[in-house]
Amino acid sequence: MEEYKQNWEKAVVMLSNLVQRAAFESFILCLVPVKYDGNVFTLTTNSTIGKEFQAPRYLNRIEMTLSEVYNKQIKVNILLEEEYENMSSRTDLAVQDSQKTESNFYDKYVFDTFVYGANSQLAYVSAKKVAEEPGQDYNPLFMWGGVGLGKTHLMYAIYNYIKKHHPEKKILYCTSEEFLNEFIASIGKGAGYNNNSKEVTSNSKFRSKYRDVDVLLIDDVQFFSGKESTQTELFHTFNTLTGIGKQVVISSDQPPQKLEFIEKRLSSRFSQGLIVDISLPDFETRSAILNKKAELLGLDVPDEVITFIAENISTNIRELEGALTRVAAFSKLKAEPISLSLSEQALKDIINKPIKQEITTPFIQEIVANHFNITVEDIRGKKRPANIAYARQVAMYLSCKHTDDTLVRVGKEYFGGRDHSTVHYATKVISKDIAEKEGTREMILELESKIKG
Ligand code: ADP
Ligand code: MG
Repeated sequence: MEEYKQNWEKAVVMLSNLVQRAAFESFILCLVPVKYDGNVFTLTTNSTIGKEFQAPRYLNRIEMTLSEVYNKQIKVNILLEEEYENMSSRTDLAVQDSQKTESNFYDKYVFDTFVYGANSQLAYVSAKKVAEEPGQDYNPLFMWGGVGLGKTHLMYAIYNYIKKHHPEKKILYCTSEEFLNEFIASIGKGAGYNNNSKEVTSNSKFRSKYRDVDVLLIDDVQFFSGKESTQTELFHTFNTLTGIGKQVVISSDQPPQKLEFIEKRLSSRFSQGLIVDISLPDFETRSAILNKKAELLGLDVPDEVITFIAENISTNIRELEGALTRVAAFSKLKAEPISLSLSEQALKDIINKPIKQEITTPFIQEIVANHFNITVEDIRGKKRPANIAYARQVAMYLSCKHTDDTLVRVGKEYFGGRDHSTVHYATKVISKDIAEKEGTREMILELESKIKG
């Protein structure tokens, strides 16, 4: 392998710690090193989105990292594959076919790879409708739901669908962060206060970029919270676009009315179209998603493994995907087929299912005995030294409080056949102590935290 490619591999490892996982997987890992001329390092991507949005964002970090690897200042150039191919006469055949065929992450964000269940059906159907007939019905379309549940996936699905089926339409995807940053930058470039409305206005380049489109997709609008002038700009962008029948799609982690610090007029504008939510998928949907992912990755995953993962991971789909990837990586590493035991091993750190200790009187006796440095036999038996008698009362009190055992049973079965009145008396003594003595209170709290695990 050429040296510059090895250096890129080193840089990728370093970048994995500097770039958020999602962006790392979607963007950095898909970059292909094609050329290094001693100063400029050229990388290509096959995704327009990667080139347009992610490249500017991560360029700096990539340059810094490569400069570190080379121990000198390196400039980085990120090009679309076509751009690179057109530019160079291709004397450098460095574009590796193997890497070229690797499909881009974002290209996988299409409707066909989105598995919907009751939790996301409405979001799926409305996103599809919007993609088929932008600007017609649901305008704006507002999709909300927790992290990792498929909002960005659906946004890109709309993007990819329109690119393919309505190539004449101008479509723009941006995160609220990008909108915000560009807006701020545009103010710096000569825009100012609009005398009539006393609002900060952006410059015309920014305006035309966002207002001269047929479809505008804005991801994660919750980040607009508190950014007043940017919200105002968004509001106007919104009115302009929807006013002339252009489609706007928005995603957020909250429903519009719950978006704190978002101006009322903006959130009510959000509400004028269709609001759909994506909630957590149920077990069947999780299994279906895993099966689909396995199929897409060309993995042979037994049903019991699908069930194992789907049962144990219910937080979100990103985690579900992560678990499957981990199992696959483990199987590759060990050169073993994917099996239940291999999956259990691979996921043991992720699935922390502590076996909850059932709270029983013997268990409490054990904890109390340990605390007082005596044996369980001492607690159960007839010895009367003060410390043992006291520990016994503590254990009785805790058993009555934390188990369903009756006073009768506690005394008879667990404390050497004692009468229920003895148990009752013990609970009274300890309750009184707790009320009066801080030391006892603290001790009981400590024991209780051990009992509850
Ligand atoms: P969000 O934007 O809501 O945080 P993403 O759209 O980034 O979530 O989804 C996280 C990951 O889970 C992505 O890789 C996406 O492809 C996948 N995913 C989410 N929902 C689904 C689904 N219903 N079917 C298949 N994959 C999904
Ligand atoms: Mg997202």
